[in-house]
Formats: sequence, structure tokens, C-alpha cells
Amino acid sequence: MGALVDITKCIGCESCVVACRLYNGLEPGQNEGYRTAQDGNTELAPNKWTVIQSHRTEKSEKQIRRFVKQQCFHCLEPACASACFAKALQKTPEGPVVYNEKLCVGCRYCMIACPFGILRFEWDKPFPRVLKCQMCLGRLADGQMPACASVCPTGAITFGERDKMVGEAKNRLTSNPDLYTGQIYGVKEAGGTSWLYISDVPFEQLGFRTNVPEKPIPEYTWQVLRWTPFIFVGWGALLTGMYLYTKRRAGVHEEEEMYAPVDDDGK
Ligand code: SF4
Ligand code: SF4
Repeated sequence: MGALVDITKCIGCESCVVACRLYNGLEPGQNEGYRTAQDGNTELAPNKWTVIQSHRTEKSEKQIRRFVKQQCFHCLEPACASACFAKALQKTPEGPVVYNEKLCVGCRYCMIACPFGILRFEWDKPFPRVLKCQMCLGRLADGQMPACASVCPTGAITFGERDKMVGEAKNRLTSNPDLYTGQIYGVKEAGGTSWLYISDVPFEQLGFRTNVPEKPIPEYTWQVLRWTPFIFVGWGALLTGMYLYTKRRAGVHEEEEMYAPVDDDGK
């Protein structure tokens, strides 16, 4: 299965983001609220599997704004899965690349392997997971489309068999060549992805990674990763240690402030 995102149709309403959070039970973090693209761009996070990013750019010498939905691309040959020796990430026959937290050992090889920088790690949890969009696998099994696609009020997201999505994208490009750039992002990138995009503005102006190789990444993922385990695990441990140390310092600082003697003037 696959999805086609038509950037010309997206109005940035973020119904898709809300639907994702509700279906997957993703709560906003402390002090986070439901920050939107209108408030400033948000990034993917362990509790944000899809976000809308807002881009101001130029077209025909006019300032314009375009909205780009981000989530896992569900690659046809996912580098994350090929890098995961624990088999915690796997490509399903239906299309979604899914994560099994019970098998994950937390090595984070998948994070450096993903050419799109999608995966997010729960740095603040004692037993951290690596989280991302699962393409609503349960809904697909029931014959439904992913939650995000089901609520889009403008038809910016079309869902169906990937081949049909590629055909639909080609139809739109040929029937309206003055509108679209002529490129379908995701047809070749990283060997092809299940999420495809068409746009009226060049993809490099919209934050897309346009230097992703066309060759499937798994062909050389392990050739690189097998030389880096000790460096990478060591670096991850260092970052985790620094995070916990900083958090502890912040806690001590707050306690000190709380219990410090109050001046006579009450300050
Ligand atoms: S986009 Fe990244 S996380 Fe998603 S399937 Fe591809 S390699 Fe894996
Ligand atoms: S629901 Fe559709 S129109 Fe609204 S932000 Fe998502 S993709 Fe864009």
C-alpha cells in the first residue's frame, strides 16, 4: 500500500496530526500542548509521529507558503530494518515498516541508517523505545486507510495500492504540467518509498532531502555499520549520561531555590 501527498492541496489544517495522535494515543508532552505549524515548525518526536511543517518560499517572484506533512516514508527496502540485527523493525507485506519494542535492544543503529532522519528515541525514559509512524497497521488490517488520510478535508492525501498512487501522481503531472514541477518524490529515493509527494514548488525549497541515493540503502548499510558498533554505542551512552546529569543538575538547582532562605523583603 502507499499514499500520495499533493502539496498543492494541503492547507495546513493539521486534522491529520490530530487524527494520528488520537488513533495512536499519543499524549502531548509536559508544557508542550498541541503546538501547530502556525505557531512555528514542529519536529517529529516520540509522541509526534506526523507533523505539518510550514515553509515560506517563492513562486513566480511571489512569496507563498506551503505545508509539508512529515512521517516515516515506509521505504520499500527500509535501511532501518536492514540495520536492526534484533529484527525490531520489519517491512510487512502490506507496506508498513513496523516496530516491535519487545525485540528492541536500544542500539539505535536504525537511527543512523534512516536516510530521511525519521526515527526518534525516548531519551528521558528508563527503557527507551525508538518510535515512528506505523502506517496504522491495525486499520489497514480492517480494510481502512491510515487515520491521517481518512480525515484530510481537502484530499491532499490519497491512499491505496502503491502502483496506483504512482499512476495517479503521473496523471496529475501530465494533466496539469503548468502547475506541478514534474517530479514525484519517493518513486526512486532510497530505492522507492510507500509515501509519495507531488508539488508545485521544487522539493529542495520545501525541506525535502534531495541528496538521498536512488540505490536501496540496505545494499550498503551493514558494510558501514558493522565497523561502528563500539563508537556508536559509546556515543549513545555518553549522550544519555549527559542528559541524565543535566536533568539531575536542574532538579538540584530547583530544590536549592525552593529551600533557600527568603530575604526580609520577601524576595
Ligand atoms: S523512512 Fe526511515 S524509518 Fe521509515 S522505513 Fe524508511 S528507513 Fe525506516
Ligand atoms: S488534513 Fe490534509 S489539508 Fe489538513 S494538514 Fe493534513 S494533509 Fe494538509
